[in-house]
Amino acid sequence: MSQRPTFAPSDPELVVERVSKWFPVEQGLFRKPRQLRAVDSVSLTVGQGETVGLVGESGCGKSTLGRTVLRLLDPTYGRLTFEGRDITNLGVSELRPLRRRMQIVFQDPYSSLNPRMTVRQIVGEAIQIHKLAKSDAQEEEMVLSLLDRVGLRKDALTRYPHEFSGGQRQRIGIARALAVMQDAKGGLLVCDEPISALDVSIQAQIVNLLQDLQEERGLAYLFISHDLKVVEYLSHRVAVMYLGRIVELASAKDLYEHRRHPYTRALLSAIPVPDPEKRRLRIVLSGDVPSPLDPPNGCAFHPRCPKAKPGLCDKDVPALRELDEGHTVACHLPEEDP
Ligand code: SF4
Repeated sequence: MSQRPTFAPSDPELVVERVSKWFPVEQGLFRKPRQLRAVDSVSLTVGQGETVGLVGESGCGKSTLGRTVLRLLDPTYGRLTFEGRDITNLGVSELRPLRRRMQIVFQDPYSSLNPRMTVRQIVGEAIQIHKLAKSDAQEEEMVLSLLDRVGLRKDALTRYPHEFSGGQRQRIGIARALAVMQDAKGGLLVCDEPISALDVSIQAQIVNLLQDLQEERGLAYLFISHDLKVVEYLSHRVAVMYLGRIVELASAKDLYEHRRHPYTRALLSAIPVPDPEKRRLRIVLSGDVPSPLDPPNGCAFHPRCPKAKPGLCDKDVPALRELDEGHTVACHLPEEDP
């Protein structure tokens, strides 16, 4: 798989500024709840028509960030700007019209589709909520055209989610998201592990569908995945998250070829490389990801980092700084450019 060419987005679709999402965890009757810092002071932009990949181990806060930027979760701190408008504190009714321009595709299409509804009802419901059709006939026409666009046949209309394969269900999930967004060009789709529940052969079809839809409609994607190869293929830029924070952000080409953060190096060293000349030593990290309820002092990665320097890494939180143009890293001792 090759990387996508460098992308120079004109205007940002989404601007995330120092956004945190903390969840209170009760500690008992007389004790104050502790805060689980799922997302901690994340800043990021997604340009119009751009794909930004978001990678990191399970539990690093990727999905929470995806839901927070869409305001499916309320941010604890920080500011969110969508298409030039501050959406941080908008209420449900103010957000409703914006939902026509920002949607999510979930990892498990089965659990996100109502098993008692037919495909006609599932996709049609999205059209009804946003009052996008003037009549039943027009609604059905819109549903049919969406099914056709995502590669499902007309007879899918009257069938239920359990009658479809995983890949087909994901197509229904994409059709439902697009049903709301179909009146406009552009917009943002958060894809939360959209292919990880699918067979490898089907994954490629969904990835190609997402890429085609992006070209047709100028959609921006925040593409969350733990599949590093797919992220490399699909993304213009990639952000690496560790314990709720972004530790490295760069163009896909730069990140995969000139990884500078020790965590990114370890993460990417697990990707199989067919060319023996390009193979790198696999870096196996010791220990598990610490709890976001009790993050380590200083750099959160220091207990597992092979380069950690006592007295520095366990004391000071490294700021995200630009090492090369468009390549930012949060590390006191970034690796040399290989
Ligand atoms: Fe490792 Fe220190 Fe860099 Fe953290 S700041 S990644 S502990 S070298």
